[in-house]
This record gives sequence, C-alpha cells and structure tokens, in this order.
Amino acid sequence: MSIIFRVLPISNVALANVIEAVIKRDDLLEKFEFVTYPLVNLYGLKQGIRRTLDCKDLNRSFQDGEWTAISRILSKSIQEKRQFSFGLDLHGSGKQGIFIINGLAFSALAKIDHSDLQKSNNDTYPGKCGGHTMLSPGEAISRNQGTLKNFFAKCGIPYCYTFEYPKVQSLEKQVTLMTDLVLAYFNASDRHFFH
Ligand SMILES: [Zn+2]
Repeated sequence: MSIIFRVLPISNVALANVIEAVIKRDDLLEKFEFVTYPLVNLYGLKQGIRRTLDCKDLNRSFQDGEWTAISRILSKSIQEKRQFSFGLDLHGSGKQGIFIINGLAFSALAKIDHSDLQKSNNDTYPGKCGGHTMLSPGEAISRNQGTLKNFFAKCGIPYCYTFEYPKVQSLEKQVTLMTDLVLAYFNASDRHFFH
C-alpha cells in the first residue's frame, strides 16, 4: 500500500480542488488568468519514480545538457504564453509539514554554500532537510539547478515558488494541506496586489 501512496499524484488532486474552488471565485477570475500543467511524466507515474523514460530527473532538466522531450515541450509552452506574474510548482517532500522553496534558488544567495548553516537537527534553523536548507519553519532554499522554478525565474517571472506537501501525512491531509496552501497564496496575492 505504501508504494501505491508514494506514486499517487497528490498535486494533481490538489490542483483539481484548487480549480474547483477558483471557478466559483469571480473576484479571482476577474484579476488573474490561471494556466495549469498537470503531471506530465506518465512513465514516471507508472513506474513510481521521478525519472523520465530517458532516465532523467525531470525537475533538473530545465538547463543546457539536461533537456528532455517533456521539459522542452513545457518550456516552449510556458514561453509562448504571455508574461506570467507567478510561477508555482507543486511537490511532495519527506518533511512533516508544508514548506515553500522561494525563487531565491536562482539568485546569488542560492549559489552560496549553505553547508555551514545546516545542522543535523531539523528543528534548528537554518537547518538541512534533504536537498533543501530550511531558513525558517516553512521557508526553504534550494541550490538545485535545472528545476522548473529556476526556469520560471529565467523566463522573468518575478514570483516563483515550489510548494512542498508532506508525503509522510495521510493522503487526505496531503491533499488538504496543498489545496489550502495554494488557495491561501492566491488570496494573499489578491490582497497584496489589488488592494
Ligand atoms: Zn520538491
């Protein structure tokens, strides 16, 4: 059972919930245009892995030398659309709670070696969590290159984030947390940019 849980596309379920909520919100629809890309790595989904058919990590493939057929199609589509203000990538992580990796991952700050900041105890901040440096509870930075979030930033999108839901929680909880996080972000953006 746990293997099935790992491969379930929680972000897609959360995305469907978000769309369902947003289409009832005329206030949001008047101000924002939403473009969504559901899970695209069908081979990875079927195999229960994050790699593509050509054995590449899709979320490291948005860079020279690493492009895959899927990331090329996505990048072309994103660049053909009109300029976006926000770029959000929905992910799952092994941490207990939700957290956000901010767009600084593409900036000079992210290129600094944070290893001296990283502690073995995840409850101290800054601290290490997998490939991320947790700056504070809920806020992370990543030095990974070739991520979709990095690509958003390269396209000039000013606000780029990866949202991570906790894969260690129950399925219902994962979906609820991610749905609520995305909707809360839309509501906050609505307030900050239009009022
Ligand atoms: Zn992630």
